[in-house]
Amino acid sequence: MNLSPDEDFARQLDAEDPLRHFRERFHIPLTKDGQPYIYLVGNSLGLMPKTTRAFVDQELDDWAALAVDAHLEGSTPWYSYHETVREPAARLVGAGPHEVVCMNSLTVNLHLLMATFYRPAKSRFKILMEEPAFPSDTYAVKSQIVHHGFAAKEGVVLARAREGEFAARTEDIEATLEKQGDEIALVLLAGVNFFTGQFFDIARVTAAAHKHGCIVGIDLAHAVGNVPLSLHDWDVDFAAWCSYKYLNSGPGAVAGAFVHERHAMNRELPRLAGWWGNDPATRFQMQLLPEFVPVPSADSWAISNPPIFSMAPLRSSFAIFDEAGGMEALRAKSVKLTGYLEFLLDQIGSGAFTVITPRDPQARGCQLSILAHEHPKELFAKLEAAGVKCDFREPNVIRAAPTPLYNTFHEVWRFAQLLAQHH
Ligand SMILES: *Cc1c(COP(=O)(O)O)cnc(C)c1O
Repeated sequence: MNLSPDEDFARQLDAEDPLRHFRERFHIPLTKDGQPYIYLVGNSLGLMPKTTRAFVDQELDDWAALAVDAHLEGSTPWYSYHETVREPAARLVGAGPHEVVCMNSLTVNLHLLMATFYRPAKSRFKILMEEPAFPSDTYAVKSQIVHHGFAAKEGVVLARAREGEFAARTEDIEATLEKQGDEIALVLLAGVNFFTGQFFDIARVTAAAHKHGCIVGIDLAHAVGNVPLSLHDWDVDFAAWCSYKYLNSGPGAVAGAFVHERHAMNRELPRLAGWWGNDPATRFQMQLLPEFVPVPSADSWAISNPPIFSMAPLRSSFAIFDEAGGMEALRAKSVKLTGYLEFLLDQIGSGAFTVITPRDPQARGCQLSILAHEHPKELFAKLEAAGVKCDFREPNVIRAAPTPLYNTFHEVWRFAQLLAQHH
């Protein structure tokens, strides 16, 4: 497609966008002047769908009217409430329904999954991560290594970008696995890196890791709801994600976990257990059957009964993803929207900033990370004052994530105008 920097062209792209009406499904925060913000931080906290309030209210109403009976007789019975989000979540990550469970929050899920899948031995205790990894993941990984009696600084292997580059090359990750694979117990990579926006070649890294006997876990915080995923076919061992970024399910929303079917069906795996991971058929035998019987699915990693009020928003959000045609339709718009932003940034052609996100659309999601060479904080403050919500990552990176569900081409155009004015 021939792109143009003209405002009319941005309007035309919006007019031709089959998903344009989905924007109306969301509450968009307003500036002091009553104008909607150009909201480019769906990678941090997604916007609230207008339908979400009713889903939460319903559960409050059921609690008020039915109390304990709502477990089995509520409008959506709480006892099996998590079943209603299983299939839509599985569709988003490319998994079978039995491979997915919505539970807890992201870092907690990483720990629970590592309790099973990080089983270090003296000769193989290292964990390969990307740099920079999200701090919570680094803390989780280091504490796991220490928890098993090893030294954190000897246990972490980092996949880095080459000098002068910003994204780690797949062939370099493969080379690291070739060299150190037999010391690496676990590869824990992001699907999409929070800082650079790089979308890793998960299938290729997984194949390389498996060749060397390493387990592969993927943190999908910035990938789920952003890029198409095929966790089952890619043969990933486990994955976890949060639901408040691209999944628009609200602060601290219930997170998700994936366990590949070959492990999910394996009742012999060691795991941290609680009653909600027990086979529902015998869950309430309580004192009569004290032996834990894991349900043969990802559910066996669940521990507690789920927080219904934090799970209700998932239902309204997932319905929107399904209605929009799922990740395939959203990705088609996303590639255009982000490609258009990249084009406009190229047009500015300024030496004042560098986009550190890969240029290949297959190697990124919707986010572009803009490294500002001069006065990055001032630039960020000016954008904010002009009605843009994006975010700043120390020391000098502005992240902008136009999302296909609620951002427009015209917003992207205005954002680029502001950047051109203020840099
Ligand atoms: C957002 C994010 C988290 C947040 O963890 P919580 O447990 O949800 O607080 C963790 N890891 C990554 C990679 C993230 O992007």
